[in-house]
Amino acid sequence: MENSISSIGLTRRFGKVNAVENLDLAVRSGAITAFLGPNGAGKTTTIRMLLGLVAPHAGTCEVLGFPPGHPLALAQIGAMVEAPSLYDHLTGRENIEITRLMRNESRSEADRVLSLVGLAQDSNRPVRGYSLGMRQRLGIALALMGKPKLLVLDEPTNGLDPMGIHEIRDLIRRLPSETGVTIFLSSHLLAEIEQVADDLVVIHHGRLRFQGPMAALGTAGPAEITVRVDDLTRASDYLASQGFTARIDRDRLWIQGEQSEAPHIVSSLVGAGIAVFELVPHRVNLEDRFLALLEGE
Ligand code: ATP
Repeated sequence: MENSISSIGLTRRFGKVNAVENLDLAVRSGAITAFLGPNGAGKTTTIRMLLGLVAPHAGTCEVLGFPPGHPLALAQIGAMVEAPSLYDHLTGRENIEITRLMRNESRSEADRVLSLVGLAQDSNRPVRGYSLGMRQRLGIALALMGKPKLLVLDEPTNGLDPMGIHEIRDLIRRLPSETGVTIFLSSHLLAEIEQVADDLVVIHHGRLRFQGPMAALGTAGPAEITVRVDDLTRASDYLASQGFTARIDRDRLWIQGEQSEAPHIVSSLVGAGIAVFELVPHRVNLEDRFLALLEGE
């Protein structure tokens, strides 16, 4: 199946609010697709419609080839919408066991999902002692029970500290190659999904603003390189004297230029006695591009 999720003209209102309006989705099978939009953009409402939890007012959608909420689709979807509901007084493994027994899965399935999310070592500790990131990973383990074809995650990193975000990001990145699952995850922060997603769907005020490969978002605008150095002002002045366009933003220097110019930039800076700690090429400033999309470019 080429697309795991597709919709045409999907629409849902709440009173006078058009939560989702005329949404055409095409989510590729086997990929990680990020569903991005600011708070209130309509992400959760869309996900709820896809899972059959909310009825659309107009439009149609198919998930894994079935209408939303169809038992044959739901049996192949693992979903974590909002925080997972866990029994705090039980261990991670006991929480998993409850779902395993309810779903009549084999004993080895508990071990498989616990090790997939990196909780095998901590599985015999009570969940009350888990960090938020560990709780989210346990929620994802529950969603992975029974080898779903599609994993739907609604803001899986919401409220997590940087360490927790890193853990979830690593996990999401590994899952498609290790299990073949298609991932559809929502987020309101581009920075969070930038290194994870293959494809991107951007909505704002319920309307589609962009849909396509992550790389296509970055094809407009100049390429940039960021560097971290010991003396930002001196580096900026020096590069300007060499004909580069550079600006300081917080602890980094943003230089207009292609990746192929990186060696020249580093050797120039080092030659001028400036220590270079880090250099990262960016095809464009994705954050700017994303904000431009939201402003209705
Ligand atoms: P967030 O990131 O804050 O969860 P979101 O992108 O998931 O935002 P939705 O929760 O889908 O956005 O909300 C879209 C719009 O629909 C918002 O204006 C919200 O207030 C409204 N809305 C959502 N659910 C309901 C509801 N049950 N009753 C009334 N209005 C609702």
